[in-house]
Amino acid sequence: MTHKRNTIPMVNSTRCGAKTRKGLPCKSPAVHGKKRCRMHGGAEGSGAPVGNKNALKSGFHTKEAIEKRKQLNKMIKSFRKSLEELT
Ligand SMILES: [Zn+2]
Repeated sequence: MTHKRNTIPMVNSTRCGAKTRKGLPCKSPAVHGKKRCRMHGGAEGSGAPVGNKNALKSGFHTKEAIEKRKQLNKMIKSFRKSLEELT
């Protein structure tokens, strides 16, 4: 062994965050462009294409709706706080 192995890109690659049966994160390298490894839903052809609306029913769980509710809750919290300060 005369040359030094370059494992830095491999070590720095995104890791799978799926929970294993032990309750720990999987830590296998994630499939390129995905957040999961090939065993945990990152495999080629798995999952819906980005922007697909096949499962959209009411839109309650869309990113936009969730963000809107978060903003509303923030506002309510701040109003409650200022109300408490007044009394
Ligand atoms: Zn995994």
